[in-house]
Amino acid sequence: MLVFTHPDCARHVTPPGHPERVERLAAVERGLLGLAVERRECPPGEEAEVLRCHPSAYLARVKAAVPRDGWAQLDGDTFLSPGSHKAAMRAVGGICAAVDAVVSGEARTAFVAGRPPGHHAERETAMGFCLFGTVAIGAKRALDHHRLSRVAIVDFDVHHGNGTQDLLWDEGRCLFVSSHQMPLYPGTGRPEERGAHGQVVNVPLRAGSGGREMREAYERLVFPALAEWKPDLLLISAGFDAHADDPLAGLEWQAEDYRWLTERLCDFAGGRVVSTLEGGYDLEALAASVAAHVGVLEERGR
Ligand SMILES: [Zn+2]
Repeated sequence: MLVFTHPDCARHVTPPGHPERVERLAAVERGLLGLAVERRECPPGEEAEVLRCHPSAYLARVKAAVPRDGWAQLDGDTFLSPGSHKAAMRAVGGICAAVDAVVSGEARTAFVAGRPPGHHAERETAMGFCLFGTVAIGAKRALDHHRLSRVAIVDFDVHHGNGTQDLLWDEGRCLFVSSHQMPLYPGTGRPEERGAHGQVVNVPLRAGSGGREMREAYERLVFPALAEWKPDLLLISAGFDAHADDPLAGLEWQAEDYRWLTERLCDFAGGRVVSTLEGGYDLEALAASVAAHVGVLEERGR
């Protein structure tokens, strides 16, 4: 199993008190301690990969907004520091390299520990701490570059993956499944939102619900959809903010629930799984959940 990271991802710095902070990467590293993973550096992402999902004017706008020092603000909670563009491009490079390695058979599973996260970024709109739609860019890499015909993304971050849904709304080759607390930011993710080809599955979960309700929902709605789709590759938007201790949301998952869910997800796509970090803002819960999630990817990647 491969883990992709890069020091540049710690150079995306957010203002004091912001939950999506540099220290999250150290918590991820604590979660990886003791796991037999092979480490790789994220290569710099190619602009052509970003352009599969975002227009060039948007990419230019993000680059131009990067401040020389301090911060620039793109929306209520999305900030740029001098290192933010490079960091986001490393996250893009990481997912593309991870997809390459798993599709080529070099590795069975991979995890990309990058920042900033990506699943809220829409075609022309940075939002929710996200600049580029990393996981959607990874899916396009698998479809357009590697010519896979069926890819699936499962987003278990506590927030709806509105950006991924927006970027892949018309993409009939990619199943997109998001489970999320509802109502909650960003407000989208109703079951009626099905994508242009009926290939979007939204699974809202009630505030206060925990691992039992999550398991029921995945058994009833997600696993059957994946079984029917028969993906050649499964991508995971791995946010760990559904954990009971997370300060931004109100679900009650435990690290053990991430272990269970990852086990079950690895039964699809012939076990070819590429996971990328999204949210998760309680540092201890993040470390424990990453240990559970990546621990399974490591076991299944042998
Ligand atoms: Zn989230």
